[in-house]
Amino acid sequence: MSSRVLTAVAWPYANGPRHLGHVSGFGVPSDVFSRYLRMNGHDVLMVSGSDEHGTAITVQADQEGLTARETVDKYHRQLIDDLHGLGLSYDLYTRTTTANHAAVVQDMFSALLENGYVVKQSAMGAISPSTGRTLPDRYIEGTCPICKYDNARGDQCDNCGNQLDPIDLINPTSKINGETPEFRETEHFFLDLPAFANSLTEWLSRRSDWRPNVLKFSQNFINDLRPRAITRDIDWGVSVPLEGWRDQPMKKVYVWFDAVIGYLSASVEWARRTGDPEAWRKWWNDPEALAYYFMGKDNIVFHTVIWPGILLGQNGKGDTGGTLGPFGELNLPTEVVSSEFLTMSGAKFSTSRSRVIYVRDFLAEFGPDALRYFIAVAGPENNDTDFTWDEFVRRNNNELANEWGNLVNRSISMAHKNNGKVPAAGELTEVDTQLLAAARAAFDTVGAHLSRNRFRNAITEAMRIVTLANRYLSDQEPWKLKDDPARRDTVLHCALQLVQDCNTLLTPFLPHSAQQVYEALGGTGVWAAQPQIREVSEDDGVPYPVLMGDYASEEARWESTPIAVGRPLDKPTPLFRKLDESLGVTGPSWSPLLDL
Ligand SMILES: [Zn+2]
Repeated sequence: MSSRVLTAVAWPYANGPRHLGHVSGFGVPSDVFSRYLRMNGHDVLMVSGSDEHGTAITVQADQEGLTARETVDKYHRQLIDDLHGLGLSYDLYTRTTTANHAAVVQDMFSALLENGYVVKQSAMGAISPSTGRTLPDRYIEGTCPICKYDNARGDQCDNCGNQLDPIDLINPTSKINGETPEFRETEHFFLDLPAFANSLTEWLSRRSDWRPNVLKFSQNFINDLRPRAITRDIDWGVSVPLEGWRDQPMKKVYVWFDAVIGYLSASVEWARRTGDPEAWRKWWNDPEALAYYFMGKDNIVFHTVIWPGILLGQNGKGDTGGTLGPFGELNLPTEVVSSEFLTMSGAKFSTSRSRVIYVRDFLAEFGPDALRYFIAVAGPENNDTDFTWDEFVRRNNNELANEWGNLVNRSISMAHKNNGKVPAAGELTEVDTQLLAAARAAFDTVGAHLSRNRFRNAITEAMRIVTLANRYLSDQEPWKLKDDPARRDTVLHCALQLVQDCNTLLTPFLPHSAQQVYEALGGTGVWAAQPQIREVSEDDGVPYPVLMGDYASEEARWESTPIAVGRPLDKPTPLFRKLDESLGVTGPSWSPLLDL
């Protein structure tokens, strides 16, 4: 693997608080991946931010009696709190309402226009017959032509998720006064996707390491490409950087186009904030650098077809060529890591249907690592996966508390009581040697799984070593070795070495408790760095929160290091709380499962 890896994480939409479904698919997996790579010596740039434009924001704002700006300010801050609480180690988590983002989007738009990949076309736009004014998409409702849902909006059906045009709606009506809108020709800009068909097909043909179903799905999509609108009749978004368009209040860049460019704009903002404005180029222009994109399965084609098309267009490498754009030759995705859905009682998490568990409630009650563990070991990696409290309680109690927590606690407790420090080992037996070798070998096996985004296999293998170490303690019974202190010290030394190795193996998954274990073993300083909330601003001086972090300073390395003999040990405090088993039946009092 190249030493430089871009971890590009899907942008959460800033129209409400996060629920478990939002963070389990790509939030935690992308962080586990990035933490592992950093420990293994790679230069990781992990970026994302809040997706703050689009009709759904303005609809939410209308519902809450807020402006769109107030709405995104409110939910961006909540998103920051949730992702910070989970310990997601973004190099930058920003937002799409920055001037930097608008400038990058506009430069990208202009580059594509210049190369002929963005084209102006007439489309039918809605007009209010009584006022003669343009009706924004969000004020038009009707029946979805695809799924027949009654309350589809002019730009999208929330039931089936398909993008729509207002004129597609059956029985369109104005939400403002109930009248039937008139449709008149208006102009919009389109991304000319058919002009990438050959170059994308050729590029995809070289992605032989991708999952076959992702490749097939993407190729099928390419076989039926049509121009896709990248401007919209809406008053909230990035302005179109053209004379006669820039100041039009009702024509903005379509939210999907601006959001997907966020990966690049966030990298540019990160570089500026670190004082080296060109630093982003090391991840985007160096052909040796790798780019991993994390998203839910409903967003695959944006990352396997549409975003690569935009990048090719900027690079002047679509089917009709062109000149290299202002960002230089940009790297296309190396890998897209899509997740399935976390469900609850068989259905998708849904705020509107009260089938939801909010991240902040969960974190307040159970802490981040219990959730991170559950997502890694039982999350929707390969299949839609049902969340149940029973499964959560069982895994927390049997695996985290009884296996891992117990191994840490009894190993350190016994060494503390008998030695007050890490004892030296005497002569090792065959059993000792074999087990220590198995733990060392796990760095390769777990690492191989992690580098291929097989999170469940990775944590299962790490926990297998934990189980072996517990069995070792039970078999060797150091508490019965009062008359053979030399052997007892050797067993405890081996147990502490195993705790240290397992803690390293589990650090990408459980960074908070890994820090605790590191300190319990006498370590000082930062073992696993956490993101920080920083208030930043642009030229306008208006502050906004971002997540950044100083991850280069952390001590964690992906290797087995010898436990430091003689280091003083205190009595440990338990790592994980065992949960009342009745919780598995009822869930906590705030859980809507009670109502189902
Ligand atoms: Zn529909």
